[in-house]
Amino acid sequence: RDHPSLSRLLVVFTVSGGGLVAYSEANSFSGVSSINPLEDGSQKKRVVVLGTGWAGTSFLKNLKDPSYDVQVISPRNYFAFTPLLPSVTCGTVEARSIVEPIRNIVRKKNVDIHYWEAECFKIDAENKKVYCRSNADTNMSGKEEFAVDYDYLVIAMGARPNTFNTPGVEENCLFLKEVEDAQKIRRTVIDCFERASLPNLTDDEKQKILQFVVVGGGPTGVEFAAELHDFVSEDLVKLYPKVKDLVKITLLEAGEHILNMFDKRITTFAEEKFQREGMDLKMGAMVVKVSDKEISTKEMKSGKISSMPYGMVVWSTGIGTRPVILDFMKQIGQANRRVLATDEWLRVEGKNDIYALGDCATINQRKVMEDISAIFTKADKDNSGTLTVKEFQEALDDICERYPQVRLYLKNNQMLSLVDLLKDSKGDVAKESVELNIEEFKSALSKVDSQMKNLPATAQVAAQQGAYLANCFNRMEECERNPEGPLRYRGEGRHRFRPFRHFGQFAPLGGEQTAAQLPGDWVSIGHSSQWLWYSVYASKLVSWRTRALVVSDWMRRYIFGRDSSQI
Ligand code: FAD
Repeated sequence: RDHPSLSRLLVVFTVSGGGLVAYSEANSFSGVSSINPLEDGSQKKRVVVLGTGWAGTSFLKNLKDPSYDVQVISPRNYFAFTPLLPSVTCGTVEARSIVEPIRNIVRKKNVDIHYWEAECFKIDAENKKVYCRSNADTNMSGKEEFAVDYDYLVIAMGARPNTFNTPGVEENCLFLKEVEDAQKIRRTVIDCFERASLPNLTDDEKQKILQFVVVGGGPTGVEFAAELHDFVSEDLVKLYPKVKDLVKITLLEAGEHILNMFDKRITTFAEEKFQREGMDLKMGAMVVKVSDKEISTKEMKSGKISSMPYGMVVWSTGIGTRPVILDFMKQIGQANRRVLATDEWLRVEGKNDIYALGDCATINQRKVMEDISAIFTKADKDNSGTLTVKEFQEALDDICERYPQVRLYLKNNQMLSLVDLLKDSKGDVAKESVELNIEEFKSALSKVDSQMKNLPATAQVAAQQGAYLANCFNRMEECERNPEGPLRYRGEGRHRFRPFRHFGQFAPLGGEQTAAQLPGDWVSIGHSSQWLWYSVYASKLVSWRTRALVVSDWMRRYIFGRDSSQI
């Protein structure tokens, strides 16, 4: 189809058939349409998966039904175990130890899975195509762009670092999101030490170079700051004795506390530990600008702006939406949202053949709230408008099973839990006889609603969603045969999340100490939790190869220390 307003055409090569199609900025197509990649008469459904992170890989690992033809598109041909990225920044673990080639992961499967190393730059939901660009450096004479057709699309593209449009951050700060970022940080740290050791520099100049700033007191920022502190105090002080007293690590946090999503005991322990070790903690300090030499902060209470010179800044203040997702959200009328909204079956709202999972999506809160209210109303067996505590607990279990995020939220001690809110309004709810008014409950729920929007995006949720969706795909045929609903777990005629297994959250604090917040709000801090952290993370690694590499890296670090070569 020709479009009159085509001002610029990009020639794209269609993977599916080799025909050429042209794609315009005005979102129109001309030329030969895509050819089905499957052999004539094939009944296979084409599934396109965007992303090979936690969600995408978990989906691929769990997909067993050979009746699909799967095409995987991702700019990285590997899966990266992100929880160990902070360890890569200081060489505690080597980068190659935490990645597994995606072709290794999918090659043993009986499902047809093809991988393309490229990034998707446009999702065309109307024509059921995604447009991709190879990230190969070589000149491919226009063939680096191609289109792929799908019957089902699985969007698992994760997120990008959020800079909140703070001036200078993009240009001057380092991020900690990808494996390359961690490697770059490692090189920069060593580079700062080497530069500060050069002759003819004054102490003042050396001090500026050795000022390391971490922005963001969340788990990633804190873990990185702790890693850096260990690297400096255990290894670099021996190699750079002349400058060791000039090193300063500053952690900037806009809120009142670091690790504010954890239990208060963890927050206090971490803050006291860092201060004892000489780390400079600045709470209530919001970064307003970063130049190539200085970082400027605004004190939240007084509004006072101050600046400090730096040698390296690592920006770790949470995640934002990728441009291709923002563009897709505009297409489907979700432009006013932060991330893609899905229903509880992970389908993008209004698009039954597109699924979104992991950090790039969230289940629509409004719908969730309606659903949750309905569960509670249903639990009120005598229609009295009140629930007994037992009925309340049962309804809550039901909700948590359907919505893993709610369970995660409830386990999160820093926010008021539903039960706590009810305690506030109703007094003693521990007694079986106390009845809870549904209206009161709903008003408590609406307070929770706004807090739930800020749920942390985690690898656990992404992986669980990937496994859940693969399971749905594995049973799709059975579901289609069953007109009442796709999956009939427990005879309710609908998809159900399998019970969410929340293993808790860890916050490594350096010095072989970790804080752990485990199911049941059990908090443990210290050396024993560090061993728990080692065992859990080693067991969660994606393959025996990476497991062996990571464990040997830990042992190497223990015996020989971290490597400080500039490579
Ligand atoms: P990702 O794992 O980020 O995967 C996204 C995939 O999409 C990647 O393969 C990427 O290459 C691909 N992609 C990107 N752009 C495109 C495109 N245009 N087209 C196609 N593909 C694309 N969570 C925990 O639970 N515990 C932890 O200890 C923990 N520690 C963390 C430490 C760090 C340093 C970081 C950065 C994150 C950490 N997380 C942790 C969070 C966790 O990594 C994320 O929640 C998780 O990665 C989300 O999974 P995902 O599949 O949505 O996205």
